[in-house]
Amino acid sequence: MSISRRNWLKLTAGGGAGLALAELGFSAAKVQAATGHLKLTGAKQFTTACNFCSCGCGMVCNVVDGKLVNLEGDPDHVINQGALCSKGAAMQATHESDRRVKAPMYRAPGSDRWQEISWDEALEKLARKVKDVRDSTWIATEKDGDVEYPVNRTDAIGFLGGAQNTNEECYLWNKMGRLFGTNFVEHQARL
Ligand code: SF4
Repeated sequence: MSISRRNWLKLTAGGGAGLALAELGFSAAKVQAATGHLKLTGAKQFTTACNFCSCGCGMVCNVVDGKLVNLEGDPDHVINQGALCSKGAAMQATHESDRRVKAPMYRAPGSDRWQEISWDEALEKLARKVKDVRDSTWIATEKDGDVEYPVNRTDAIGFLGGAQNTNEECYLWNKMGRLFGTNFVEHQARL
């Protein structure tokens, strides 16, 4: 049997393989039996965003037994509509890297090494730092000539969002920035 280039592409396109084979005259039952233990059989799908640049392309990750076995562009994602550039397509390497940081790391003042701490400990340290900086730099009023105006802000804290954040996260991020009393709410893509 000769196979056209178009049908060959259909054949090799993972999810469409069974259908394409059946279209070419193979028995659907045999095709199903032969492809019953493909790499993605039983995989759970999760969506995520590429961690490289500020485009924020969406991805679909296939996970089998807690292990990432496949990663591809999310066809339903509004930004990339299934496409990934070469960096994004190779993102699995960063996921599997033994240099990937998976827990908060802390370097004590004067120390020359990092140590792993728990998320609770990290949250406690961050909250303490933010509170101390906010309290010690708080500007309650400013004078314009003889008139004193309430301004209630700090110029010592800034917020930096990223392209991976959703609209809803950005809204909350902005609200939190204003609540903290800072005007410095920026976006990674503007740097
Ligand atoms: S897939 Fe490429 S363009 Fe998309 S976010 Fe990742 S690095 Fe950027």
